[in-house]
Amino acid sequence: MPEVLQPDHHDHREPIDLLLIDGTVVTMDATYRVLPAGAVAVHQGVIVAIGERDELLARYIATEVLDCSGCAVLPGLINGHAHVPMSLLRGMVADYQQLDVWLLGYMFPVESQFVTPEFSHVGALLSCAEMLRGGTTTFVDMYYFEEEVARAADIAGMRAICGQTVLRMPTPDALSYDDGLERARAFIEAWLGHPRITPTIAPHAPYTCTDQIYIEAAALCAHFNVPLITHLSETAREVQESRNLNAATPIGYAHRVGAFDVPCIAAHCVHATEDDLLLMRAHGVGVVPCPSSNLKLASGIAPYQRLLDVGVRTGLGTDGPASNDDQDMFTEIHLAAMLPKGLTGDPTVMPARDALSLATNRGAEAIHMAHQIGSLEVGKRADVIVVRLDTLHGAPRYTYSPETIYSQLVYSTRSADVRDVFVDGVGLLRNHELLTLDVPEIMQRAQQIADQINIFLAGREENLLDKILAIGGVRQAEIFEIQVKAQISEADIARIEAGLHAPDISITKASERMQYDTYFLFHKRERGRIRIREDRRLDPGARLDSKYTITLMEDGSLGDYPFALLLSRARYTAPAEHSTRFYREYFHPDQEIEIEKYRRRWRILYQNKDFAVNIDRLVGHPQPGPFLEIKSRAWGRRDADERAALIGEMLQRWGVDTDNLVKQEYIELER
Ligand SMILES: [Zn+2]
Repeated sequence: MPEVLQPDHHDHREPIDLLLIDGTVVTMDATYRVLPAGAVAVHQGVIVAIGERDELLARYIATEVLDCSGCAVLPGLINGHAHVPMSLLRGMVADYQQLDVWLLGYMFPVESQFVTPEFSHVGALLSCAEMLRGGTTTFVDMYYFEEEVARAADIAGMRAICGQTVLRMPTPDALSYDDGLERARAFIEAWLGHPRITPTIAPHAPYTCTDQIYIEAAALCAHFNVPLITHLSETAREVQESRNLNAATPIGYAHRVGAFDVPCIAAHCVHATEDDLLLMRAHGVGVVPCPSSNLKLASGIAPYQRLLDVGVRTGLGTDGPASNDDQDMFTEIHLAAMLPKGLTGDPTVMPARDALSLATNRGAEAIHMAHQIGSLEVGKRADVIVVRLDTLHGAPRYTYSPETIYSQLVYSTRSADVRDVFVDGVGLLRNHELLTLDVPEIMQRAQQIADQINIFLAGREENLLDKILAIGGVRQAEIFEIQVKAQISEADIARIEAGLHAPDISITKASERMQYDTYFLFHKRERGRIRIREDRRLDPGARLDSKYTITLMEDGSLGDYPFALLLSRARYTAPAEHSTRFYREYFHPDQEIEIEKYRRRWRILYQNKDFAVNIDRLVGHPQPGPFLEIKSRAWGRRDADERAALIGEMLQRWGVDTDNLVKQEYIELER
């Protein structure tokens, strides 16, 4: 017969793993019970009792009795929305950038170049260390290579809902949405059933997805019984565009495409309407505003108090560290308490206890895990944190009312005051020391990746071509250009037009257009210059819409012919899909010049070589012209010589006075 260990036959106390005693136990349960010198009993990962210290000491004999005097004992904090690998991009972009420049000019290019499984893993480890040290035990994440986030959370010992992000455009881990969906399915199948990690799919947002993506993602969530994570109504502009495109708010749209048919976790909802709130309440949608990120990106302030008043499940998140820039839930709780007061002018809204609830019991409801976590209650998982109250910034203490503890925790406690963290009753942070993660090693690996990104960005800042390439769509590169420009008269124009119709010249295309050019110039001329052009056709039958292009010209004169200039002109053109304001903030030009001109253009063949002939009049310029320009692309030196000679012939045939040749570009003409 096996021996049964009985330490003491006369001790009738029940053996358990852990007993936390003498702390102020803040249960965050349905009655918000606070025990001033209470105790929490933990066994096999579960909370088995909560009560007075003497009572529990009499009932249990614990493997470890932890003295929590001078501390609060709380449920572990819940970070309801994060992109944890982005800790590696923390502090990367100066904060004078608008959201589109931040996202399209920096985040997307860097992510497409650098986000690998290693990136996701190291970034997630760094975030897990930061979150654990600040008392966060559960987080909801959405990123790429999400299996690496899951692996990091598992190593750290944390609880997490990990969403494999899908978008309609290519991502670092999927060339197409179909690949992304397959990745998500494989990820869910591999991790389903893990005791602490819930794998799922995260369609990024209505403005980056399609109906089909939401429909299929919701079907996947329904099939595996996992929640759907997404971003909704983060900015006012997003709501307006959704109304225009879908005749619905992003929240109304998400409902229409089935996202609310499964448990949904919707980040932000800053611009939720009253109807949106009712809709989300009816479907039990969890809303997770991210106060720091919403402020930093100037998205706005979520309707915190309305969410609670209406009865929407509401949590709190940090969002990605690139827009926060930390993952400190005590900061978010603090802001959630402060912002509604400042916004309404009413100091009684969002009391401290409610603010704390967003990261605990209400936060658990918002992420659909209230049956397991969010409060200290018998039967729930033992996700418990011990927070020091006996600090300089917490002194002195008042205890006449149970409410004072909430004020201390929300207004003066800091994340560094977290002393111990348990998940499933397992100690992950003990006396401020992380037990599962090697912080110096993680920081070193993080810095190595940041160093690579730093080199990439530093090089790109100098090299305008890299900056243009980073935002995509570059089409063509030219090598040499021969050109001549001359100031002409009205009489010259008539002669040139007649000359263009000579039998040995064939006109392949003729057009009339207005061109509005904005040039970005830089002190270092060798960096080249950027031209943003709006080209509007005026000739009958031509396309009605203006065409916008952005061109980088890295030019230098290679030499003069008797009449023409040979320019080495590396020229890269892309469709300009953003506003001039976007490009201005992205390129930071030292000087900006605008040139507006009316251009008549003929593309001709002369002696089997192609030329562009332009007659230009500058609008609102002291030297308005008219000017004649003849240009031709050349692919080599001999070809250039021949074309230069032909340009000379044309000038002669059309009687253009070569004394009037202009060697400057339009932007160089004196104003
Ligand atoms: Zn987010």
